[in-house]
Amino acid sequence: MSRYRESVCRLCRGEKVKLFLKGNKCLTDKCPVERRLYPPGEHGRRRRRILGYGLQLREKQKLKRYYGMSEKQFRLFFMRAEKKRGVTGDTLLSMLERRLDNVIYLVGFSHSRSHARQLITHGHFRVNNWKVNVPSYLVDKGDTILFKDKSAKHEELKAIVSSNKRKTIPGWVDVDWEKMQAKILTFPAREDITFPVEEHLVVELYSK
Ligand code: SF4
Repeated sequence: MSRYRESVCRLCRGEKVKLFLKGNKCLTDKCPVERRLYPPGEHGRRRRRILGYGLQLREKQKLKRYYGMSEKQFRLFFMRAEKKRGVTGDTLLSMLERRLDNVIYLVGFSHSRSHARQLITHGHFRVNNWKVNVPSYLVDKGDTILFKDKSAKHEELKAIVSSNKRKTIPGWVDVDWEKMQAKILTFPAREDITFPVEEHLVVELYSK
């Protein structure tokens, strides 16, 4: 997989939406999207009407970049969602939301999703006391996510957790700040996902 090496803020400006890729900077007025809500580059301010396939492609790219996935990984997630019962778009979003890297970011155990991925691959987390070093691992109802004993004593990690104590946590997860643990109460529903996306466009794109 080729890695994107430009400034990630350009991705947000390109999609004209905050993708929250830079940790705390995303929550400040230093966020470029707050000041320049138009695509980067010489022709960024030019009005462009996107329709049909272009619109579907943009929604897919937006979602893929928000969760920090490659095209191949994203398509695999879509294929898994398609095989399940229910509305494919809703299932896809619920599965994306249940990714371990996403949950760790949502509960404030990391600065960003990419930081969460780094911590997971470095083996800092346990799920139900089992070592899990796969960022795409899908958490299940009743799962408990906790830091490895040694990592729970790490000053830098403790500081991240305590700085995020006031973060709004989604209702489907419960966090015990003292124990630095998160518990999955239920599966996320469509209304729990606040990111502005029209998932039916993604389904249409892949169903061609
Ligand atoms: Fe950059 Fe974060 Fe703002 Fe996106 S949301 S433009 S990553 S600061």
